[in-house]
Amino acid sequence: MIDEIKRLEKFILTLEPDDVERGKMTRAILKYSEEFLQNIHHLPAYRVSDTKGIGLYDSPIQDDPVGIDELLELLKNNVDGPGLNPASRGHLGYIPGGGIHHAALGDYLAAVTNRYAGVFFASPGAVRMENMLLHWMAALIGYPKTSGGNLTSGGSLANLIGIVTARDAFHLKGKDLEKSVIYLSTQAHHSIDKAIRIAGLKECVVRYIPLDEGYRMKPSELDMSIVADRTSGLNPWLIIASAGTTDVGAIDPLGEIGAIAQKHRSWFHLDAAYGGFFVLCDSGKKALKGMDTSDSVVMDPHKGLFLPYGSGAVLVKDTKKLLASHHYEANYMQDALGSTDELSPADLSPELSKHFKGLRLWLPLKLIGVKPFRAMLEEKILLARYFYEKVQAIDGIEVGPTPELSVVTFRYVPKSGDANDFNRRLVNEIQRDGRVFLSSTVLDGRFTLRLAVLSFRTHLETVHQTLEILREKIAKVKNG
Ligand SMILES: *Cc1c(COP(=O)(O)O)cnc(C)c1O
Repeated sequence: MIDEIKRLEKFILTLEPDDVERGKMTRAILKYSEEFLQNIHHLPAYRVSDTKGIGLYDSPIQDDPVGIDELLELLKNNVDGPGLNPASRGHLGYIPGGGIHHAALGDYLAAVTNRYAGVFFASPGAVRMENMLLHWMAALIGYPKTSGGNLTSGGSLANLIGIVTARDAFHLKGKDLEKSVIYLSTQAHHSIDKAIRIAGLKECVVRYIPLDEGYRMKPSELDMSIVADRTSGLNPWLIIASAGTTDVGAIDPLGEIGAIAQKHRSWFHLDAAYGGFFVLCDSGKKALKGMDTSDSVVMDPHKGLFLPYGSGAVLVKDTKKLLASHHYEANYMQDALGSTDELSPADLSPELSKHFKGLRLWLPLKLIGVKPFRAMLEEKILLARYFYEKVQAIDGIEVGPTPELSVVTFRYVPKSGDANDFNRRLVNEIQRDGRVFLSSTVLDGRFTLRLAVLSFRTHLETVHQTLEILREKIAKVKNG
């Protein structure tokens, strides 16, 4: 047996490369990422591709190794080529993500040291760091010290955690669901519907509250709806509002909704995945007044803090409620229990083992300070306002509501022919061109184009370029 063990042990050499081998790989990867970054402004925001990365299948996973250069070539051709390039300054579709380099370095460190950030006992420092970041976010929105939260992979999981916490805080059981009412708007993100389903709340009554001309929930309608439901013996328990809707970036009237929730003793969950971090800048802070009246809130650092994908956050005003929903004990965890210094992420979320996400956020915030984030966010709001103003100067363009944050909606209304069809072709032309990427939506049955400014790389030059491209493509679609 010892011979066999020793024979197998030799394979460790491949899993534990020496400094020379490590250096070779690291240099190859650094060279690749440097080329990517130095070239970033020449890469298209969107690349139409016939093969769509299928070349990966020509190199199946197998027993024998493949060299790093060949792998980077595969990556370049099949992954970092086709489709949307979210690192591009021209990414103006959906809600753009970030990818600041400091965060990538944090990820690298977290993976090399592989601290176990799930449980305080295992890595007190890692857990303190994550809790410190969550407390920083809580303070930003005016939540009390008794609040707590969790760093998640994104807004979808964060919404799920918030809604599950609300469900348990109200002790909702299967038999209660048909009489329990959830209030939201048709502008809520689809991850909310998904979370309601996953949380087993599909049988609840769901009321869509009418919207004002800016696609914001009307508080008076919400109040009336709750009163009517209460009168007819239903249980109005959950109100879900948005701070920055995906379609138009609308902010529901937060303070008023908070007051209504309090009056009716309902839970107020706020989806601020896109909009939340705008509290860091002056204009955003004004627009987002009242976030503190919610009971739980979702904010995505991979949107408003320009982090790479994989960073969401949920905050719950009363941490005890979050803990009650997610805390578990197991015999094999007995050594890890009993610490009262800090709450552990594993007790506040569905996850146990997880990537140490705190480092990708802590490192940039400490390395460059918060000031540049404030400036970038203010700039994004101004860029959206500027575009909103300038796009109206293009003959035939009709705009949506004044942007509250950094999303602008607009469409071209042709003198004759179907407007929806025209705008569908227009967005197709812009995407095929690829210098910038815009996405579309449907508002009140009208096919509408959207410009969402949130990439840290998007500046005035790209907004000017977008206006130019828009003029060019309108002319092209007009001429068939
Ligand atoms: C992006 C977004 C989500 C979903 O978040 P993910 O991080 O993509 O999972 C939810 N709500 C809103 C308002 C969003 O903008």
